[in-house]
Amino acid sequence: MPILEIIHYPNEILDTECGRVSSFDKDLHRLLDNMYETMIAEDGVGLAAPQVGILSQIAIVDIGEGEESELFELINPEIVEQRGNQIDIEGCLSFPGLYGKVPRAKVIKVKANDRYGNEYHLEAEGYLARAIQHEIDHLHGVLFTSKVVEYVHESELTDWSEEQLQR
Ligand SMILES: [Zn+2]
Repeated sequence: MPILEIIHYPNEILDTECGRVSSFDKDLHRLLDNMYETMIAEDGVGLAAPQVGILSQIAIVDIGEGEESELFELINPEIVEQRGNQIDIEGCLSFPGLYGKVPRAKVIKVKANDRYGNEYHLEAEGYLARAIQHEIDHLHGVLFTSKVVEYVHESELTDWSEEQLQR
């Protein structure tokens, strides 16, 4: 499957509100599969459709590796409930080499469609909740740099490997 080209900042596509998905067809499935291949090739833990030039509310997240791996396909996702706070370091495939501390909700409940259009609900916390919030922001043209409270130099990334931070 083809690897898609990642759009880097600055690009107005990254600042644009994405439209809701209404066709859960083969084209969507192909895009999701290609986004997955791209995310893996780029060592990312998440990828949103606008990052590959598609202005639709589609994102994928997989924070695990090997047996821990679990892929979430989020189409038209909405955060319906959130609580608590956490601050941790994030990066973004659209901002190579840039890292910063971002405050996020600790626990979120999300409503989304799967690739067949079925609605499902997901509760996530901690790092998974952070990754999902980062991707949902992308679908509304919101970039992590607008939420960074402190930038972190690459050499200070001790607890996290670079690969774990790419979204
Ligand atoms: Zn990102």
